[in-house]
Amino acid sequence: AQLDTLDIIVLAVLLVGTVAYFTKGTYWAVQKDPYASAQGNGDTGKAAKSRDIIAKMQDSGKNCVVFYGSQTGTAEDYASRLAKEGSGRFGLKTMTADLEEFDYDNLDQFPEDFVAFFVMATYGEGEPTDNAVEFFEFIGGDDVAFSEKQGDEKPLSNLRYVGFGLGNNTYEHYNAMIRGLTKQLDKMGAKRVGDAGEGDDGAGTMEEDFLAWKEPMWKSLAADMNLEEREAVYEPIFEVTEKPELSTEEDTVYLGEPNKNHLEGASKGPYNSHNPFIAPIVESRELFNDKTRNCLHLEIDTTGSNLSYQTGDHIAIWPNNAGKEVDRFLDIVGMIGKRHTVVSIKGVDATAKVPFPSPSTYDAALRYYLEICAPVSRQFVSALAQFAPNEEIKAELIKIGGDKDYFQDKVASKNFNIAQFLESTSGGKKWDKIPFSIWVESLGKIQPRYYSISSSSLINNKKISVTAVVESREIPGASHVLKGVTTNYLLALKNKQHGDPNPDPHGLNYAITGPRNKYDGVHLPVHVRSSNFKLPSDPSKPIIMIGPGTGAAPFRGFIQERCQQVKNGENVGKTMFFFGCRKEAEDFIYKDEWEEVKQVMGDKFEILAAFSRDGAQKVYVQHKMKEKAEEINKMLEAKGYFYVCGDAANMAREVNDILGQIIADQRGVTKEKGDALVKSMRTSGAYQEDVW
Ligand code: FAD
Repeated sequence: AQLDTLDIIVLAVLLVGTVAYFTKGTYWAVQKDPYASAQGNGDTGKAAKSRDIIAKMQDSGKNCVVFYGSQTGTAEDYASRLAKEGSGRFGLKTMTADLEEFDYDNLDQFPEDFVAFFVMATYGEGEPTDNAVEFFEFIGGDDVAFSEKQGDEKPLSNLRYVGFGLGNNTYEHYNAMIRGLTKQLDKMGAKRVGDAGEGDDGAGTMEEDFLAWKEPMWKSLAADMNLEEREAVYEPIFEVTEKPELSTEEDTVYLGEPNKNHLEGASKGPYNSHNPFIAPIVESRELFNDKTRNCLHLEIDTTGSNLSYQTGDHIAIWPNNAGKEVDRFLDIVGMIGKRHTVVSIKGVDATAKVPFPSPSTYDAALRYYLEICAPVSRQFVSALAQFAPNEEIKAELIKIGGDKDYFQDKVASKNFNIAQFLESTSGGKKWDKIPFSIWVESLGKIQPRYYSISSSSLINNKKISVTAVVESREIPGASHVLKGVTTNYLLALKNKQHGDPNPDPHGLNYAITGPRNKYDGVHLPVHVRSSNFKLPSDPSKPIIMIGPGTGAAPFRGFIQERCQQVKNGENVGKTMFFFGCRKEAEDFIYKDEWEEVKQVMGDKFEILAAFSRDGAQKVYVQHKMKEKAEEINKMLEAKGYFYVCGDAANMAREVNDILGQIIADQRGVTKEKGDALVKSMRTSGAYQEDVW
């Protein structure tokens, strides 16, 4: 049952996959992004350009490749950690590889004394990550045509592999990608080392699942490949060279520009996930009347770019780190005096891909390119021990790194980012022995954050609305308030637009005018990502939407669209929206707009609002659904569509459960049957989720 979606994807794309295989060259060529490697760094030479993984490994003396299928960067991060550990502890010659950068038709010739790791995230409704789609197209079909061994039942018997999946148990197709992949590879005779690991983001145990899985895995792999474990030595993957002869004035130095195209003046399209458009915010306001929380509404204009969207798509916003955190970092590692020194960063060999453009400066690397505010991992704490300012601090780091509970107590529960962690464990003593290459390897590239577009493309496909709550969390026992990177950046931009003389209310000190003031005015880098979260193509179908809080975002777009369709004289079905918030007078977002929609749509539109803090009883969308059980069931019987957006951990799961119950009660069938019907709605696309 776990493989349903995978099977569907496989079937749906088999034809495309086959075409892709037989027409390789051209097909891949058009897929390749012109800016993907426009960074002018270590990616040079014959081996770097090849899409032949075996040739690339052999040319660069590698015997271990860690492939990753990654969407938000976590799987990529785990892949580099495995690669580093394999080389540091076991002397493997490792490299990481983005799945979309290679072809797989010669996988049957993978040398027997090599090993391949697959670190695979499962995305959305059991889908592959964008960079793994083509790989799954190829590997997914039963009739993969390996060059040498056509007709061979076990074409991959040479391939030794290790698997780890990143998933979320709140989704139905938990870890479907790694499960599907192991099933396929095992079927084709590949030799799996140990069980594939599974990390669960839903339970919040991803990191610990990974740590618990990898020790026995290394043991089996070491036995299997005759590897000797040694005391881990740090071997840099990147060479960081200071360039005192280069000044930040030089037009070849990257001060935060996303790629070469942006460095060289006015950026050119096409704009996409490698090449953001610097878009103006044409309007901004706050949606809450609440002193402790901010909720932003932004209108972003993509006129003048190729970017457009369909209702239900996502916009990606490229953030930069708050100046306050960049300063903290530079200070604790003893580098504040040389923040603007120009550095060139190169891979030690051709397989190491520098995650950001070079030459750049320490300041720009930490502000624009590296994720410095994310939670700290226990494994990374252990790796830093050898660079501690003194023996006592080193011992403390080893203890924290080796003890899950102690780590929880000292680090995780305090919500430290890396610089806050260093400050607190050394009592302010500088960590000036840490080579900068470690940060480049371990911090991960700063990731764009996604927002469900809260407007309708039918009305204007160049003007994108965003509805975002500003992340600001006070955690009991922590000495600081956790500030979300992107949403506080957006808040500062909104304040600037309104002429606030102090646009940065929390002293975060964002560089809101961007590198070389290129984002001046009120601009920010964005791209658009299409999604499967879509209205029925036939507007006469009834729809039910469940979207408490910012989960309302895409439904504002859906409702705008249906309202416009009514204005256009189309036959529009019943449009029912369940919204939830704390108090009617406080955070009932877009309340006035819903009134206007009612004027146009009449009883075709109904909003049911649940307030959790207005009365003695806490009321949630789930309760409101139960009140409307009969009508919900009728709408579904009339081939209605059901949508859920917002909190994945609790709300979405409960809504799924309640719908199963409603169907069971209304149709007089068992709960199991009700749940099975919900499941089949998911499979057919009549139940869609946009959750995070
Ligand atoms: P971040 O800095 O990324 O922090 C986010 C969270 O990570 C924190 O709240 C905290 O829980 C954790 N965290 C960060 N640093 C630490 C640390 N040092 N220690 C411990 N924990 C830490 N949001 C909306 O408001 N509206 C939308 O419409 C919307 N749509 C989305 C659609 C999709 C498909 C997805 C995937 C997400 C969507 N989100 C939406 C969420 C959004 O992408 C961001 O995650 C959110 O705005 C927070 O971003 P941030 O950069 O401000 O916070």
